[in-house]
Amino acid sequence: MFTLSTISRAIRRANMARHGDLVDEELRGWNWGRAPLKPRAYFELGVSEVSYRLCPTRRDLWLRRRDGVKIEPSEAMRIGAAIHNIIHSISSEISRLSTKGLKIWDAYTAVYRRIDRMVREYTQNLANTEWLYSFAQATAFTLASIAAELGLPLITEFTVDGSLLGLSKNLRIDALFQGAAVVEFKYGYNRDDYQLALTGYALALESFLELPIDTGIAVLIANGCSELRTRVEAVYISNNLRQEFIEARDEAIDVLLSPSPPPKPSQCPQTCPYRRVCGAPA
Ligand code: SF4
Repeated sequence: MFTLSTISRAIRRANMARHGDLVDEELRGWNWGRAPLKPRAYFELGVSEVSYRLCPTRRDLWLRRRDGVKIEPSEAMRIGAAIHNIIHSISSEISRLSTKGLKIWDAYTAVYRRIDRMVREYTQNLANTEWLYSFAQATAFTLASIAAELGLPLITEFTVDGSLLGLSKNLRIDALFQGAAVVEFKYGYNRDDYQLALTGYALALESFLELPIDTGIAVLIANGCSELRTRVEAVYISNNLRQEFIEARDEAIDVLLSPSPPPKPSQCPQTCPYRRVCGAPA
């Protein structure tokens, strides 16, 4: 599982990239009122709508936002949602109980006793949920350890207003680490598509709090052949990443300003949940 020391080590590695690449003032989120951060239009975009390119031409974005198309979430989406619910419930319960005066490890014991019921509640519509019980138990231990070592629980599901950058008023950041790094929990072990999302959340926080956020942490979670696997990756929110996020945001805005949907790409990813809507070959 992830631990305080794996997170700290990853942050140290990421911060080595800072040397020689200090963030330009114009690319700080608090400069939302001028180019290049000022958006052409305000569509309250989700960070994931900007960062995770489901469809190579962003046709899915137009269909969802302009045409009101709704799709059934895929199995992977539902597992991702269950993981987020489990982490948030455990973290907020440890936080609530310690605020009421319980010592962190007593709060952990109380939460641990409720884990089976909690996981059952969040995994009702899923097959093969056994590993999520192990995940929840390990998560409870990890979050209690972090709270005990740092003296305060991890803040999860932190809401931030990203509207100054053309993003949603209710962005939900998976977690904030020591008030200085944004954290994303992702289902999937070998993915590397989290960097732009971390950058978007960092920019939104900078625009909202007017504090520099230079580090993002991705905790990648998967069930391997026989065991739970997690990997912690930290990224320095560099000038390049900031520019890349802003370009992706502007591209999403252009798609939504267009009266017609973008064309279909030459090939549709097998995992795209819009395949039926677009009539893509099975
Ligand atoms: S099915 Fe193809 S064209 Fe439609 S949204 Fe998905 S990738 Fe894009």
